[in-house]
Amino acid sequence: MQIKCTKCQKVIEIAAGKLPKDKEKAMVKCPACQQVLVFNIPASLRQVVENSEKTIVDFGNKKNLRPRLVQLSNSTEYLLKTGKNIIGRDAGISIPGDRYISHKHCMIEVMEQFGEIQCIITDDGSISEKGEPSTNGTFYNDQRLTRYDKLFLNNEDKIRIGHTDFIFKTE
Ligand SMILES: [Zn+2]
Repeated sequence: MQIKCTKCQKVIEIAAGKLPKDKEKAMVKCPACQQVLVFNIPASLRQVVENSEKTIVDFGNKKNLRPRLVQLSNSTEYLLKTGKNIIGRDAGISIPGDRYISHKHCMIEVMEQFGEIQCIITDDGSISEKGEPSTNGTFYNDQRLTRYDKLFLNNEDKIRIGHTDFIFKTE
């Protein structure tokens, strides 16, 4: 099946064999702009498999899959856990020393899809009390995230939160 990227309009071909068999929706990464695209799986490609075996990816056994942010200025590593990681000056992942970082600034969600670990960054206002994106911004490879961006992270991506630079690493 094909879907079109809602951000850059690229047409993406998705092999039917890669789709989950027991779900109505799936996510795919736009290879051009990294945008997260959620799409409905047509019923014709879906078949409900009862008692299907589920693959559970365990970080503990996968040394090469430890998603983390590494601060460039001092090499501090901030390990990300499965689920929602709220990053800020005063958050689940607390980064000290930069007043341009909001108390709750941005979020990286770590999840498993198709047996792989996926990390998705957002600065869409969903974690702030006012419902607004961070004041000083979150940058992905030098581009400021808008509230509509939801991007997959890849090893060695550059992330700037406030005025602090990080490299995202999974290896
Ligand atoms: Zn795209």
